[in-house]
Amino acid sequence: MSIEIRSPADGSVVGVVSDQQPNEVTEAVERLREHQTSWENIGFAERARWLRRYRDWLLDNEDQLARILQSETGKPWAEATIEVPYAADVINYYSKHGQRFLTEETPRAHGPMTLTKRQRAVHRPYPVAGVITPWNFPVALSLMDAIPALLAGAAVVVKPSEFTPLAISTALAGWAEIGAPPVLTCLTGAGATGAALVDAVDYVQFTGSTRTGTAIATRAAERLIPCGLELGGKDPMLVLSDADLDRAANAAVWGGICNSGQMCTSVERIYVEAPVYEDFVNRVVARVRELRQGTDGPVGAAGAGFRYDVGALANQAQAEIVRRHVDEAIQAGAKALVGGKPAGTGTFFEPTVLVDVDHTMACMREETFGPTLPIMKVANADEAVRLANDTPYGLSATVFTRDTEHGERIARRLEAGAVNVNDVFTNLFALPLPMAGWKQSGMGARNGGAHGIRKYCRTQAIVSSRVAPRSEPMWYPYRPLRGNLVRRLTRFVMARDLRRRLGLR
Ligand code: ADP
Repeated sequence: MSIEIRSPADGSVVGVVSDQQPNEVTEAVERLREHQTSWENIGFAERARWLRRYRDWLLDNEDQLARILQSETGKPWAEATIEVPYAADVINYYSKHGQRFLTEETPRAHGPMTLTKRQRAVHRPYPVAGVITPWNFPVALSLMDAIPALLAGAAVVVKPSEFTPLAISTALAGWAEIGAPPVLTCLTGAGATGAALVDAVDYVQFTGSTRTGTAIATRAAERLIPCGLELGGKDPMLVLSDADLDRAANAAVWGGICNSGQMCTSVERIYVEAPVYEDFVNRVVARVRELRQGTDGPVGAAGAGFRYDVGALANQAQAEIVRRHVDEAIQAGAKALVGGKPAGTGTFFEPTVLVDVDHTMACMREETFGPTLPIMKVANADEAVRLANDTPYGLSATVFTRDTEHGERIARRLEAGAVNVNDVFTNLFALPLPMAGWKQSGMGARNGGAHGIRKYCRTQAIVSSRVAPRSEPMWYPYRPLRGNLVRRLTRFVMARDLRRRLGLR
């Protein structure tokens, strides 16, 4: 069985992949298991060496990967070329610091029972990690999780979205091409393939919808395996009256419309303090009007790259959601100051600015994942915070104010895993910080320095006796004399005042 991949820009077939069946998934995972032990045993330095070679292969093949990515996603060239560098950055970060993050710990004894023992906490990988990814950033989202898992010593299966498997399967084929050990593979297929993967692996890292994430977490719980989930978002932007409006407007437009708004952390709704509302809206509208929408190609080729700012939506279902959110809002009294409807052929949707919106509308409550910027006027920062938190999601948020301290105080009142002050989703590039969705936006975190690699490990406690007499005072047989002595001694050590130490009460 196979799946046809179509270009969202014009509907043409751009590739075919096999629809891998549950038994093929199980067999592939078993094959990985056979090679994982030696991958773990070669040690971190050797694993990092393979990852660095892989980084070089990715960079050498960047243009080819971007071209394939464009064909299956409809992204403009500028956006198709950001995924490989992101993966390279993750490789550089974790191959540089991973050894330290995985160093075993040797804590000191804290009480008499372990005084003569050597204690170690050893980070050992889950043998096989499954990475299940969506269609918006097929290469970056797959690699950013696969890389730390591989460096931890796990074998990894990536199951990309059935809409966008072409660039990532080519990227993963590069692993074999450099001659690396066979511990990284790609399995293509739809939901059933993903479900079979959850049934076969030892850890699941998922990026995608809250609905599918819930199904995966439920199945993972039944199997008692851990999972990490990065799910949907409805990220708010707060624009306070002292904000640099030029920067705020530029950030809103790029943050909301980049990748056609199909980004879990994109700006999905904006709250602006009344005194600057009109000025801000005018600036946003002016910039959105300047955006060029279409499909370009690599630099130098016909249709020279970097010619367009906004591409197509990734598939018809997504285009339908965006259309519904905009139509419903307009019917309920909102106004589209620019855009507001599908554009041309394929799944293009005009970059859209909506005003006169409120929280009864889907465009302010549900994840739109489209090139839309609904903007709402608020009386003050308190109202902005209240509305920003009025959502089941909690992925990230943005605050614009010239007073950074005030911005950070506002950040601490927002229910979101990350808050960017005077910027949009830069936290994604802050690899030492955790990227975690709160509420319905996720479970666990990726990145976050040591956490990002240790999450792929089970921590093992190893306790060795440095002094090993024939027997221990607590062992059999129980005798009154020795038993009482042990009791007195433990009491002497555990108590924190003299009377109790001496057993006087
Ligand atoms: P979308 O954002 O299109 O709704 P999903 O969140 O449903 O995407 O899917 C994201 C990824 O999860 C895709 O690779 C998809 O094939 C996979 N998937 C869908 N259903 C399941 C499931 N029940 N178990 C595991 N993976 C699934």
